[in-house]
Amino acid sequence: MTFHVVTLFPGAFDSYLGESILKRAIEDKKVKVKLYNPRDFAEDKWDRIDRKAYGGGPGMVIQAAPVARAIEKAVKAAKGRGTKKPHIKIVFFSPSGVQFDTSYAKSAAKKYDHIIFVCGRYEGIDARVKKMFKMEDVSVGPYVLTGGELPAMVMIDCIARQVEGVLGSFDSREEERVASPDVYTRPEIVAYKGKKYRVPKILLSGNHAEIEKWRGGQK
Ligand code: SAH
Repeated sequence: MTFHVVTLFPGAFDSYLGESILKRAIEDKKVKVKLYNPRDFAEDKWDRIDRKAYGGGPGMVIQAAPVARAIEKAVKAAKGRGTKKPHIKIVFFSPSGVQFDTSYAKSAAKKYDHIIFVCGRYEGIDARVKKMFKMEDVSVGPYVLTGGELPAMVMIDCIARQVEGVLGSFDSREEERVASPDVYTRPEIVAYKGKKYRVPKILLSGNHAEIEKWRGGQK
């Protein structure tokens, strides 16, 4: 699975993708992340690519052409030189798009070899870009962020979990088993400010059927 991210702020990705499970997944080549900055596709490298909105209103709008060229580059990279036609999906981030969730992640991991994320900033990207490519408006939740970078990382994180070999064992995906929101590890008794906190007895019983039942009831 290769994730292509069109973003004005590629530096935002380094810290998160450079840690823990995603870092290892990238090192092990289970997933790949490629970044494209529309600024590099501006006609004039020193000219700004955010402009005032037609019709007025606060905030700047990112110009269509540099973003379109960045997407085109990503599409070309995805198609590669091979003869096999890869399955490519383009996601256009928008707080009013379809809600991303685990089932979206699962089907995306199954269906696509390449996912291209188009991250907006400021007031967003000139909507004509949506006429140039077949894209889906996707939201990561009912709130407005300052940019599409966190949404891209949320989707990369969640979809990568669904790629075989990314988690230690495929069964680690809690979507596939009974997982409880409350989990416990050693020691059995934790002392804090004079009080003792114990692990629920059932978890020490060794009775797996009962444990599963208990976990299922924790939601
Ligand atoms: N005026 C725009 C909001 C711009 S927010 C509107 O009402 O649609 C700036 C950018 O952040 C958006 O273009 C989008 O790429 C991203 N973004 C903000 N909140 C998001 C969310 N909940 N899900 C996905 N992307 C989001």
